[in-house]
Amino acid sequence: MHQTIKNLIEIQSEIKQNIQKLGFINYDPNIIAVSKTFKIEYISNLIDFGHLHFGENKVQEANDKWKIIKEKNNSIKLHMIGKLQTNKVKQAIKTFDYIHSVDSKKLAQKISIEQKNLNKKVQIFIQVNLANEVQKSGVKTDELLDLLEFCKLSSLKVLGLMCLPPFDEDSDKYFYDLKSLNDKFDLKDLSMGMSHDYLKALKYKATFLRIGSKIFGNRN
Ligand SMILES: *Cc1c(COP(=O)(O)O)cnc(C)c1O
Repeated sequence: MHQTIKNLIEIQSEIKQNIQKLGFINYDPNIIAVSKTFKIEYISNLIDFGHLHFGENKVQEANDKWKIIKEKNNSIKLHMIGKLQTNKVKQAIKTFDYIHSVDSKKLAQKISIEQKNLNKKVQIFIQVNLANEVQKSGVKTDELLDLLEFCKLSSLKVLGLMCLPPFDEDSDKYFYDLKSLNDKFDLKDLSMGMSHDYLKALKYKATFLRIGSKIFGNRN
């Protein structure tokens, strides 16, 4: 069995155990296998194993790697988890099923327009910059309501919120804050938790965990 499959199985059973310990029922989060930078030949082991959710952070790389595979297998869902520039939105909608990084009205509006042109709807997460980090993407908390209302008016399908906590801090507080905002705005999905903190994200019922290196190994 390929190492990536072993890793995924181990992660899945660890998640199951933790959910049991937490006492949650009817809670079964999705694992997005974040395959950015890895060649499709290496990823194909997991595809053949039947895994369906994969994450990429660059539009061109994702399209080059996944176009043919997705044409053959339309159960595979691709998630855009990286920063999205407005000039790449059209291709992003063609390539991806989910976009996790919507953080401005400008971007939301562009997605809305291109979706109509292409007659294809993507599922949206709003990325929130909870720590107000200057170098990081994401809408500030005090601008979130405004952006959510704009998305609604633009008929974007917002599933929920996404965050990327500061890497050198305990994620718990950020997961708690994002979960609170999600509940406040009555959103159902939560995109949070990476290789180093996905078990913590379970406590707050994240529904999409974005796990890269723990499945595929270190990126060069
Ligand atoms: C790369 C990336 C991940 C996965 O990171 P790992 O630490 O390898 O699990 C998750 N989310 C985003 C936004 C990323 O860019």
